[in-house]
Amino acid sequence: MQNLGSAFFVPAVSESEQGDSGFFYLMCTSSAFDLDLCLLFFFAGRGSYPTNFNTKQRDKKMKTVRPPMIIMILLIFTAIGIVAFYNFSNSNGKSVYKVVIDPGHGGKDHGATGASGQFEKDFTLKLSRKVEKLAQEEPRLQVHLTRTDDRFISSVDRARPKFANDLGADLFISIHGNTFANPDVSGTETYYYHWNSRSLAKVMHKHVVQGSGFQNRGVKKENYFVLKDTKMPAVLIEMGYLTHPKEEKEMLTEEYQNRMAVSIVDGIKEYLKLD
Ligand SMILES: [Zn+2]
Repeated sequence: MQNLGSAFFVPAVSESEQGDSGFFYLMCTSSAFDLDLCLLFFFAGRGSYPTNFNTKQRDKKMKTVRPPMIIMILLIFTAIGIVAFYNFSNSNGKSVYKVVIDPGHGGKDHGATGASGQFEKDFTLKLSRKVEKLAQEEPRLQVHLTRTDDRFISSVDRARPKFANDLGADLFISIHGNTFANPDVSGTETYYYHWNSRSLAKVMHKHVVQGSGFQNRGVKKENYFVLKDTKMPAVLIEMGYLTHPKEEKEMLTEEYQNRMAVSIVDGIKEYLKLD
């Protein structure tokens, strides 16, 4: 998330404006700020003068339209107050965080068929239950699974994201195993869709790749409905390729799954700053 603000807004601000927008730039490159606050600073800065003037014209114009200094100072202090409240409520403000773990597929939806013939839906459920069990040791985490058995969840009514939204969950993590026609393809991928899920994706991906030692296939943006429809930071982790015989063999072991449950819980705790 930290570079998203600057990457998004750089083309909108001409070079001559950058001196006055320094504060905006500073804020938007800070990882503590999200898009709402970037917009606040952006418009606060832009509102005091028109944009399409050269420096001389702009300075002249500014003399006539710049609001009194006291208003600027009040605006800055208000913004600082909002930021302080925002950081408090998003990092350490809650005593308990609701985390939805979504075991991919289920029931008649088998997901991928692994190299050995086993189904992805069974792998995702087993790993998700281990995450749930491990997270119970952390009193500030309250884990909810979208399914706790081999049941089919229709994607038509968007039940998985709806479950998380109705619960008012803080995080949504969907667990999957990957598939590809070429059995040589292997590795871990983490997906996000909304901009505010990117930093969660990065943190989770780091932990899962470190824990598994599988090939790092990167953090990617994709409009999967479970990522698009969820209102909280949401990621989908493709733990590894079940169609890669060696990778599948490892993914189906208790040892790997216990290790990955630790990695996933560690990622959640790092993101929520629970350590
Ligand atoms: Zn899947």
